[in-house]
Amino acid sequence: MPYEPVIGLEVHAQLLTRSKIFCSCSTQFGASPNSHTCPVCLGMPGVLPVLNRQVVEFTIKMALATQCQVAAYSQFARKNYFYPDLPKGYQISQYELPLAEHGWIDIDLEERRKRVRIHRIHMEEDAGKLVHDEHQPMSYVDFNRTGVPLMEIVSEPDMHSPEEAGAYLRKLRDILRYVEICDGNMEEGSFRCDANISLRPVGREELGIRAELKNMNSFRNVQRALEFEIRRQQALLERGETIVQETRLWDNDRGVTISMRSKEEAHDYRYFPDPDLVPITIEPDWIERVRSTLPELPDAKRERFMTEYSLPPYDAQVLTSSKDLANYFETVLKRFPQPKMVSNWIMSELMRELKRDERDIMACPVPPENLAELLQLLESAVISGKIAKTVFEEMYVTGKSAKAIVDARGLLQVTDHGAIEAVIDEVLRENPAEVESFRAGKEKVFGFLVGQVMRKSKGKANPQLVNELLRSKLR
Ligand SMILES: [Zn+2]
Repeated sequence: MPYEPVIGLEVHAQLLTRSKIFCSCSTQFGASPNSHTCPVCLGMPGVLPVLNRQVVEFTIKMALATQCQVAAYSQFARKNYFYPDLPKGYQISQYELPLAEHGWIDIDLEERRKRVRIHRIHMEEDAGKLVHDEHQPMSYVDFNRTGVPLMEIVSEPDMHSPEEAGAYLRKLRDILRYVEICDGNMEEGSFRCDANISLRPVGREELGIRAELKNMNSFRNVQRALEFEIRRQQALLERGETIVQETRLWDNDRGVTISMRSKEEAHDYRYFPDPDLVPITIEPDWIERVRSTLPELPDAKRERFMTEYSLPPYDAQVLTSSKDLANYFETVLKRFPQPKMVSNWIMSELMRELKRDERDIMACPVPPENLAELLQLLESAVISGKIAKTVFEEMYVTGKSAKAIVDARGLLQVTDHGAIEAVIDEVLRENPAEVESFRAGKEKVFGFLVGQVMRKSKGKANPQLVNELLRSKLR
């Protein structure tokens, strides 16, 4: 019997505020343990949390960017549980009345788009971190992260394959980065994902029993964990066994998920409204003010790149995947207004180099002006296409301008007829047998002779001229 996977994702995004959600401690990453703490985030008795306005504003921003309805009235709740990294014995989160609900985003799959609904978006605080000592039987606790603001984005179970889940996460991360509220770094934990997955016979409406997957710290791991879980659940169902509702941990080294706790062992968090925090009321004005600060979002930018610059969907997709990359493209275009050529150079030469040394476009050693200059030299036939690629590589390594490299290394393209003819004569003299067979009708030899001329000129001869002159000499 064929089964259909049903997947819903919960994403925790760390917000880029300077201070924590309920106190003025710094959110700076990497500080010495427990240096960014105060009585509020240490959960001392008698202290009062004060909500960081920026956290609310960022969450409204994400809500608007994902077509959610922002609640006029929402509330914080206490989620009660004990763990050594949670000094208060409860986490402040939102439960019955979240800040935003009922949105959606469109995800891009090969050859099609799909809409995934957002169930809710709410605010909460992060917990601390336990540091385990490898050499001694003890653990330390670092409360710097306690109270760092998080936004939880919960999708509806609208995804049906690991690929769809991956596309959803990438799109969500792109949007968070576009609106500049989260750096989206999954490896460092500022963008975390838990997945709910169940299987049901194809055609049935009713959902199967689900497992919740945790501990996946890269996009690839989310996909791998889901693939494993689909196989595992399918094998159980085919044997006529029942799926247990449980939480499972992804073990990256072994490539499997392991049961962590079943439904019976699950926590009862005894949520209740936090009496220390007044409910949040949001006036329509505020929402409109935030809306007016939204940048052009990935989908809109992609559409514009396709219509304004006549780029194919693939190019538009790649170039708008990050706002910085899109800006880079448009800055080059201001000086060299040939969209497809600029797009080709960015997507091939530039992105290959960036990928090779794992650099972000913001850290690119070739400023957009320099790439534009290189393309102008190429376009006006000052240098050949082959030379342009070598020059680009040197620009990337040294940070020098195209002109400076071309001048210093004497790479100007040779367009002088006399000079090219001299090289051609030499090549013809050295390859009498090839000349003979070309004249006897072997057209293929022509390419070989062109290659010889180009090599002798160290790639500097204008290829079109070489073609013309060589053909006339062989006639
Ligand atoms: Zn604090």
